[in-house]
Amino acid sequence: MAQEITLNDIRKQFGDIVAVKDVSVTFEAGDFVSLVGPSGCGKTTTLRMIAGLETPTAGRIHFDGVELTETTPQERPISMVFQNTALYPHMTCRENIGYGLKIHGIPKAERNDRIEEAADILQIPDQLDKMPGELSGGQQQRVALGQAFVEQPDVLLLDEPMSDLDAKLKEELRVEIQRLHRKLDATVVYVTHDQNEAMTMSDRIVLMDDGEVAQYDEPRTLFDRPNSEYVATFIGTPTTNVLEFEVEGQTAIHSAATIDLPSTLSTYSRLKIGVRPRALTPGKGTFGLDLTIDVIETMGHEHAIHATTPDGETSVEFVVDDVDDFAVGQTVTAGADLSDLLFFDETGAHLAYGSDLATTQEAGQR
Ligand code: ATP
Repeated sequence: MAQEITLNDIRKQFGDIVAVKDVSVTFEAGDFVSLVGPSGCGKTTTLRMIAGLETPTAGRIHFDGVELTETTPQERPISMVFQNTALYPHMTCRENIGYGLKIHGIPKAERNDRIEEAADILQIPDQLDKMPGELSGGQQQRVALGQAFVEQPDVLLLDEPMSDLDAKLKEELRVEIQRLHRKLDATVVYVTHDQNEAMTMSDRIVLMDDGEVAQYDEPRTLFDRPNSEYVATFIGTPTTNVLEFEVEGQTAIHSAATIDLPSTLSTYSRLKIGVRPRALTPGKGTFGLDLTIDVIETMGHEHAIHATTPDGETSVEFVVDDVDDFAVGQTVTAGADLSDLLFFDETGAHLAYGSDLATTQEAGQR
């Protein structure tokens, strides 16, 4: 049965480097949780402590309320798959997937049923009698996932299992990993540096920043209500535009726009304002950014337009469905509404969500 995992003030130090800094989070039983963040932010170290491959320098780890901080991986109800999981080269894929079950004395008929179920979900039923050396990298990772799946772990730990695969294979395997999760009664902890993977696969995401939890929330909440500029610019593609404004009285001033501020924000002398590229639309909105287009990128049915503010200092991106009305060198005013804006102080700390301010404003007008 899926287990709840609790990390309580977990810290890991390697000499002078503090890889994980007093992290406290609870993963609910059965959730698919991603640990995401840039290289070196402590994702793998956190996963390895959950696995029992590293002992925390301080802090406690509980599975379903039972403390397992100092126990070995074998004493934990886990299976793991890494970036390049080594398969036994002299065994067929069927034997590789079923090896753990054989060691645990599971009868052959049941073993075969479980192996075939895994092979079906992972779309490798035709590869079962091949040797690992005959398989592509993607098929080998599927066998490794099969090994973990057949053990029916309470907790499945995945460390960048797709990072060496090409984009199309990743897309396929992303769906298969979700199917595995649905079939398993397990809590899944998935490490990735790819926010897009985390956003599409997870029930909840831990976004890490330099050994700390920047935000732990559902994907939609991370997107709509990022608690800092760091989160707003890490989550979502294309990335959130952030412009730095001077505040004079009730007005935020930038070479690209002036914005009337609600009184709660007029006490700051400088503000950062974020707006997502898909929220900016030329000719629409209650305020506009004056921009000069410098690059147009076509992304299939939509187009990313890169533009520069009048002072030449900030790049702004927006997305349009139809590119016919735009050309490099053209000036445009790309607009948005108050509800689309994210307000940060000059250090990037969260101040307000435009959506909340717009609701308050509407209520005031009624
Ligand atoms: P990546 O995506 O590159 O794998 P990560 O977010 O998983 O990065 P970690 O591998 O957890 O990050 O590393 C966090 C920090 O701890 C890094 O500065 C790393 O160099 C350091 N670190 C990790 N393992 C060790 C170790 N065994 N000895 C010394 N330093 C380590």
